[in-house]
Amino acid sequence: MIVTIDGPAGTGKSTVARILATRLGFEFLNTGAMYRAVAHVCLQRQVDLSDADAVGRIPEGLEIVFSNNRLILDGQDVTEAIRDQQVTQAASLVAANVQVRQRLVELQRSAARGVSLVTEGRDQGTVVFSDAECKFFLTASPQERAQRRQRELLDRGEAIALEELMAQQDLRDERDETRACSPLVPATDAVVIDTTPMTLEEVASYLEGLVRKRLEAAEMF
Ligand code: C5P
Repeated sequence: MIVTIDGPAGTGKSTVARILATRLGFEFLNTGAMYRAVAHVCLQRQVDLSDADAVGRIPEGLEIVFSNNRLILDGQDVTEAIRDQQVTQAASLVAANVQVRQRLVELQRSAARGVSLVTEGRDQGTVVFSDAECKFFLTASPQERAQRRQRELLDRGEAIALEELMAQQDLRDERDETRACSPLVPATDAVVIDTTPMTLEEVASYLEGLVRKRLEAAEMF
């Protein structure tokens, strides 16, 4: 079974997807981390982000491996490095690149071969796994999303004003929602959940209930 969780930044997708995957005994795929990895390499190699051909070549031959919730890029653990503010902004730029998307979508589909998977991102239910059995789309108020990001950064020792984070978030949302290739939009058959008043544990439990019902129904046939 494939479970997709899409939505904008700060809605708790990756935390919820990880909890859900653990509880169901499914594999977990964090596709945002893959776009971040490509952005990280672009910044390291000082690739001009407006040069579509140069950016598009970056994923070729790049080895992206998830291991014990760590992201290993060409043998190097970049789990923390890719959460950096600069990488965060660059990720939504490289994510608009058609070649980058094609390559990462291939990797995402191959990660799903022969396993049950909870995958999170922006296009998992609409494009990458359009036949997925369970699709969810998480939302939350812009204020709540920015506060969650602020807490995440504070845990890493970075204190950033809420207004600044909200401005960055608006910019990322606009890029993700208006790009020509795989824009951020709920799949027509996705269950949309506003997570603003909920804890992420509560969201995970709610989704778990829905997935288990779907699993039981599938076993009856
Ligand atoms: O979810 P996260 O904030 O880690 O994603 C980083 C960026 O990667 C997003 O801003 C978005 O532009 C891009 N992304 C995407 N498609 C996905 C996952 C992430 O375009 N499936």
